[in-house]
Amino acid sequence: MEEIVLEARHMKKIYNYRTENAFEALHDINIQVRKGEFIGIMGPSGAGKSTFINNISTIDQYTEGSVLIKGKEIRTMSSNEIGRFRFQNLGFIFQDFNLLNTHTLFENIALPLSLANVNKKEIEQRVNEIALRMKISSLLHKKPNECSGGQRQRAAICRALINNPEIIVADEPTGNLDSANSTELMNILQQLNKENGVTIVMVTHDPLITSYTSRLVFIKDGSIERELERGDMTQEEFFQKIVELNSEESREVLQK
Ligand code: ADP
Repeated sequence: MEEIVLEARHMKKIYNYRTENAFEALHDINIQVRKGEFIGIMGPSGAGKSTFINNISTIDQYTEGSVLIKGKEIRTMSSNEIGRFRFQNLGFIFQDFNLLNTHTLFENIALPLSLANVNKKEIEQRVNEIALRMKISSLLHKKPNECSGGQRQRAAICRALINNPEIIVADEPTGNLDSANSTELMNILQQLNKENGVTIVMVTHDPLITSYTSRLVFIKDGSIERELERGDMTQEEFFQKIVELNSEESREVLQK
């Protein structure tokens, strides 16, 4: 039987809950993510994509329903437990890289390990290993603002991978990259997914980027509106379908 690594059941997110500014950003989200899936989340701006990804990955606390990561209900964990759980299971990649400019790339990449009190020797070994794999070994002494966008994103990937996470969560990871660096990042993610069996959930607005995934989840007005499995489709066929789906959606908006 296929293992479900991530699941949301009737998940609802209300911002400013119980105030006059309450806003229900997600309505009744039900999704199961199987181990080894690569999911692309698309949808119009303001649809709830970031809210979705934050609430299924312990970054934010959903208002109702439940979220289970590897069978564990997030809501039942204390904040200490969540911190440990995150370190053991999750890796995060963001559009703006979220690197600390006051720290070197080495220190940035090492951060999750330092926070988990891993010893210095092991930290050094693991950072050097992952930096070699991501081809930034010679840049480890530099600060993020001394590096290019592509180099910074590689460092951010190193930081996301340093704990060997089973699940990677990415929010517009190619948003600040040119097309060559975007393609390279997608190749890295695809390799992690195919060869290491890492499960990936990624928000993007770009059909070409989504065509690397195995399933598209389309969010609109706070609900999952459609899903599209890649199945046997080639990447090009899947890309065409995604473009069609997006233009149908755009047409509907225009006709309103
Ligand atoms: P997307 O990522 O699809 O662009 P978001 O998840 O960022 O959409 O936002 C979904 C909706 O929730 C939007 O209407 C947005 O204005 C609202 N929203 C997002 N964050 C907050 C917040 N912290 N407080 C109140 N409303 C928010």
